Amino acid sequence: MRIVIKIGTSTLAYPTGHLNIRRVEELCKVISDIKNAGNQVIVVSSGAIAMGVGKLGLQERPSDIPTKQAAAAVGQCELMYIYDKLFGEFNHAVAQLLITGEDVENDNRHQNFSNTLARLLELDVIPIINENDTVATKEIVIGDNDTLAAIVAQSVKADKLVLLSDIDGLYTADPHKDPNAKLITVAHSIDDSILALAGGSGSNLGTGGMVTKLEAAKICLRSGCDMIITNGNNPNNLYDIMNGKPVGTTFTEKVYA
Ligand code: GLU
Repeated sequence: MRIVIKIGTSTLAYPTGHLNIRRVEELCKVISDIKNAGNQVIVVSSGAIAMGVGKLGLQERPSDIPTKQAAAAVGQCELMYIYDKLFGEFNHAVAQLLITGEDVENDNRHQNFSNTLARLLELDVIPIINENDTVATKEIVIGDNDTLAAIVAQSVKADKLVLLSDIDGLYTADPHKDPNAKLITVAHSIDDSILALAGGSGSNLGTGGMVTKLEAAKICLRSGCDMIITNGNNPNNLYDIMNGKPVGTTFTEKVYA
């Protein structure tokens, strides 16, 4: 199976911007194991800006572009250092791919990017993708890694895209505010009633929220790729997802009996 796993900032880092070491260690172990079982895995990782905020000792996520880009430049090194070290312990090589909107909008560049990705998978490497935040400005930005991950899943014809977040999935209401909110386990389309359930950005350090996740689901549904939103706090959920067990919210065209 070919699977894209998007790791959100809230899964990787504490609100302080420092790394959640236990979480990331578990994640790298489970992903390595899934790969050892014969699956191809691509990681889309957020967290560059958050890691930069932590490393530079900034009080909060910067709002001005130069500081954001500087924080991303510092944090991206930290991220890749951690992934290289942890995946390396399980004998897996990693590769860094940083892209901007131009790399997916321009057909030639998109093709180059897809070719490199395909070759890395043949070489048995774990590609780790993020937006090139250091150069991405308003005009060329993809903007959030949920969308980026869906574009990647579409490009490589992935079987599944898993979005690891700080929420269990899509709920009928905001579960932080409404005790009667229920988890929606399966959705077959993104209609107005589903879109109405999305709020704004979920955390202070990341960019995405439910809106960007539903946009990502639209891209996946169009390309026949199942998309699952699940909580990143339990990396073992990934095993269940690989085994087709219901976890979080699954967006799929397939109707299971
Ligand atoms: N590219 C951003 C980062 O690495 C994250 C974008 C997102 O949270 O969707 O900090």
